[in-house]
Amino acid sequence: MASEKGSSRISGFYRKSIEERVAIAAEKADLTAEEVELLGSGGGLTLDVADRMIENVVGTMAYPLGLAVNFRVNGRDRLVPMAIEEPSVVAAASNMARLMREGDGIEAGCTDPVMIGQIQILDVPDVGAAKKAVTEAKGELIELANQQDPVLVRFGGGARDIQLREVDSEAGKMLVLHLLVDCRDAMGANAVNTMCEVLAPVVEKLTEGRVLLRIISNLADNRLARAEAVVKKEAIGGEQVVDDIVSAWAFADADPYRAATHNKGIMNGIVAVALAFAQDHRALEAGAHAYAARDGRYRSLTTWSKNEDGDLVGVLEVPMAIGIVGGATRTHPVARLCLKLMGVSKATELAEVMASVGLAQNLGALRALVQEGIQHGHMRLHARNLVVMAGAEGDLVDRAVEALVESGEIRFDRAQEVVKRLKG
Ligand code: NAD
Repeated sequence: MASEKGSSRISGFYRKSIEERVAIAAEKADLTAEEVELLGSGGGLTLDVADRMIENVVGTMAYPLGLAVNFRVNGRDRLVPMAIEEPSVVAAASNMARLMREGDGIEAGCTDPVMIGQIQILDVPDVGAAKKAVTEAKGELIELANQQDPVLVRFGGGARDIQLREVDSEAGKMLVLHLLVDCRDAMGANAVNTMCEVLAPVVEKLTEGRVLLRIISNLADNRLARAEAVVKKEAIGGEQVVDDIVSAWAFADADPYRAATHNKGIMNGIVAVALAFAQDHRALEAGAHAYAARDGRYRSLTTWSKNEDGDLVGVLEVPMAIGIVGGATRTHPVARLCLKLMGVSKATELAEVMASVGLAQNLGALRALVQEGIQHGHMRLHARNLVVMAGAEGDLVDRAVEALVESGEIRFDRAQEVVKRLKG
């Protein structure tokens, strides 16, 4: 064993065989023989389970599951499961987590897990009177909402507040009621939608209007996760690299064309963890991008700056509507296993690690972009994809990758030539 039991610092993890990596993970997370077998089962989802999850099932579809190593979040080491089809993401996360732990590691936190349910109210005859009536009935409305989910209330969650907004739209003025619900360890969409539906007739009476939509908002700006890390200038390549990363970030923050790709890189990390835990990653994507545009201009989700020691300081703040009860997390056997691999017992812990991975991923992309360029690290992996596309199999794959990289032209036509030549 290259590292002590609780540590996520595992050097050369990428050089080990799959069996060795699984053995390390099994030792660290106390996996059972069945759980080890599940990891190697090609996705872990039986047709039976799949058929109960969605409609019209004809099969299952597996993703590679990798473990990002070296993460230390709030003083605790975590192995981070990531499911993703894109090469380089797990490697970049692990590398940047290593640089971050050379400082003080990553500090992360989150708000209470409060989601927003929206009730759209049309044809309100007197907006002032409607607002007054709803405000006066707030206590009853919250009580009625909470009666719908005694389990959530028992776990310390439930409806917390009601807010009213006037929205000007193409279809005229409308009143919008926000129901704020603390969802504890649930993502909360079902819980919140149910509450909104039950409140609707009461809200109609109070406002003398007509309720149309009753649905959760994915702009979960009351449920934010935040990660912050200081990276020593020596670790990242010197003060010039620090300055260049700050300039690269400033470009993204100022220009939506750059920000879209910059934030996509952050979501590479967040969505990969989300997939491993069978989270609703569309909800996360929608929330993140809407939050990035919250002040009217689409901006960077991170900020990067230089502190007085010349070190790099990164902060990511992003809505994180995730859950570890409900949804598919408890139905998907691999997602359940991932909870054990990462040692997660509360949704907030998962949210904090996900924000940390997003921050590390962003640093990985920025560092590569300001230094050797993004293609350098991708080249070998890209070559591997190309030779496989060109028909290489088994031992031939590695030999073809070597030949293609040596040729200096990582292109499909060259890959076809190389594979043809090596096949003789
Ligand atoms: P859910 O309804 O399956 O389960 C949540 C319930 O679990 C809670 O309401 C509560 O009663 C119970 N519970 C038990 N222990 C709890 C604990 N410790 N903390 C909190 N609750 C606890 O799931 P959900 O989270 O309400 O809904 C998530 C699902 O809704 C996802 O699958 C998502 O894809 C889907 N969805 C999303 C949207 C959207 O994002 N726009 C819309 C509709 C549905």
